[in-house]
Amino acid sequence: MRPETLNPLFVDVESLEGVGPKLRKPLEKLGLTRIRDVAYHLPDRFVERRVLANLDEASVGENVIVALTVREHRAPSGRGPFRVLAEDAAGNVCTLTYFGRASYAAKKQLPIGELRWVAGRIDQYGQMLQIVHPEHVSPDSAAPIGQQCEAVYPLSEGLTQGRVGAMAAQALKTLPDLPEWIEPGLIAKTGWPAWRAALSEAHRGMNALARDRLAYDELLANALALMLVRESNRAQRGTPLVGDGALRGRLRLPFALTGAQVRSIAEIEGDLAQAAPMLRLLQGDVGSGKTVVALNAMLIAVEAGAQAALLAPTEILARQHFDTLSRMLQGTGVEIALLTGRDKGRAREAILMGLLDGSIQIVVGTHAIFQDSVAYRNLALVVIDEQHRFGVGQRLMLTRKGRRVPHTLAMTATPIPRTLTLAQYGEMEVSKLDELPPGRQAIDTRVVAVERMDDVAGALARHIATGQQAYWVCPMVNESETEDLAAAESRYAALQARFGDTVALVHGQLRPEIKDAAMERFARGEASLLVATTVIEVGVDVPNATLMVIEQAERFGLAQLHQLRGRVGRGSEKSTCLLLRGAQLSETARQRLALMRETQDGFVLAEEDLKLRGGGELLGTRQSGDTPFRIATLEQITKLLPLAHDDARLLIERDGGLAGPRGEAARLLLYLFERDWGVQLLRSG
Ligand code: ADP
Ligand code: MG
Repeated sequence: MRPETLNPLFVDVESLEGVGPKLRKPLEKLGLTRIRDVAYHLPDRFVERRVLANLDEASVGENVIVALTVREHRAPSGRGPFRVLAEDAAGNVCTLTYFGRASYAAKKQLPIGELRWVAGRIDQYGQMLQIVHPEHVSPDSAAPIGQQCEAVYPLSEGLTQGRVGAMAAQALKTLPDLPEWIEPGLIAKTGWPAWRAALSEAHRGMNALARDRLAYDELLANALALMLVRESNRAQRGTPLVGDGALRGRLRLPFALTGAQVRSIAEIEGDLAQAAPMLRLLQGDVGSGKTVVALNAMLIAVEAGAQAALLAPTEILARQHFDTLSRMLQGTGVEIALLTGRDKGRAREAILMGLLDGSIQIVVGTHAIFQDSVAYRNLALVVIDEQHRFGVGQRLMLTRKGRRVPHTLAMTATPIPRTLTLAQYGEMEVSKLDELPPGRQAIDTRVVAVERMDDVAGALARHIATGQQAYWVCPMVNESETEDLAAAESRYAALQARFGDTVALVHGQLRPEIKDAAMERFARGEASLLVATTVIEVGVDVPNATLMVIEQAERFGLAQLHQLRGRVGRGSEKSTCLLLRGAQLSETARQRLALMRETQDGFVLAEEDLKLRGGGELLGTRQSGDTPFRIATLEQITKLLPLAHDDARLLIERDGGLAGPRGEAARLLLYLFERDWGVQLLRSG
């Protein structure tokens, strides 16, 4: 049970003033459901504004606060903006410009002849200075002047900076004082503020000490939890699985296994034969052939008379795994089933029955396969695919269904740098598929300026005419960003206008049935062009798709581009990847794209990505998807994780499993970051 001290932090957001049911959806999109989440919703950046005596001091592009007297309202001509002419103390005139509906409010806020304090960004408009959509307008100097350093929060549609800022301010007031869980020596050395102070400071300005402390907390919680899982795993008994090879002998694969596959299977076989539950990570670049390794592992379990489960992160992937595995299993007599959250009624009952009586030997599915209502006769191996998207520990907890802890094989296609492996998986055994199946052709990767869109469309037309398929990827940094979504939709419309019904669309905001239907159309070859956001990033396998166009490639991280590109080059035909780039590129972006052209080695790209992302570009870029962390950036992970890891080990080993005052504080930390499965293990193990 969660310690009472933390209760105020887990109160629902609706308890905050001004937050009602209407905001629930937009808040949920940002993961903000409780006070704790709001307190940890840190600003991306801060706008620094200078208070000016008059506009002579202003430079274009600068954020300022200045007092202006309103002189004239200029009604829009046609579809143009509404303009307000205003004058500073020195008689300089500047234009305040409003588009669309904002003009109505502006008209009221800026009556002619009145003095107003205005905060905004200075632009040039012809000969005149202008401020487009001032961020603050007030008759009273205190309000805008109070915004000399204003937080800019990540938003979702339906939320404003003002609203989120007010929520954060309220949330920060309710924070309890918590005992220190960080080692006193480290606090002394770094000068980090205490927890509560760190949170307040992180909302008030770009305070590196405060941010580091908060990141460290998150890393420490994660390291502790992973270590607790590992310790408890070591202490548990699993079922030793020894197969006689009969089923594996019946597999009729159209290829010979690579050396790396043979080695990995042998390593897994060795682990499975032990009573201690396996905890192994299978790391292999896209296309390295992890599926067949997983299949061999699962067949060992079945040969030994037990059941195996494969957990996929999405329904699309679960379905695809199911299809692939079913095909490979033909003629072996092994019963395999697919179970997702969408299965209802009789079909679902039949599967549940099969799992309970053991007639289904392998099940593939989403997290639905571990719901309480699903019982297994003898589940002894769980394969978790692509689970860098979840925290591994939580998944491990989820899989503990029976009296015995199942063996676990985690698979990831993300070649992550070594530091991150430790961050995400703790100290797991690792098998690496460092050898691609033979006959793979290099993917011809080119960087193309977006101005050459017509050429690209022409190339696409010729490509489709040969009967091969193609992907068109639109950037979507965050699936809630309406602008990106609109861009993807309109690109789809444009391509459909040119290529007709052979174009399909998938993005994260479509209903799952519609998404699946589009994917299936593409997988079956009925659609030749799939327009998609990054939802296709993981796992999708259509060997006939041999061209990929990635729009605004500079907006993607290297690791992500690599993942995406791995969707092509899966068949025997030569594949091409066109990276469309915008007109203005930062030096880092240029280097990134060049690297993509030069190498196809995911591990090299991952290490380089980490290096290139150092410095300013990283601050404020949330690393969602890349890491299991919400606070810690890649840079902080690199810097602080080794410390957190050692500290966690000391805490557990020296203090005998979180006893003593610091151990108590560390438990609070685990609850705070919802790594409390770690604490639960401590109790049961
Ligand atoms: P990933 O590691 O990305 O999950 P898959 O398991 O999907 O890779 O394999 C990618 C493709 O390579 C599949 O079409 C699979 O059938 C094929 N493949 C796997 N192993 C070999 C091999 N040893 N030789 C040739 N093709 C292989
Ligand atoms: Mg795969």
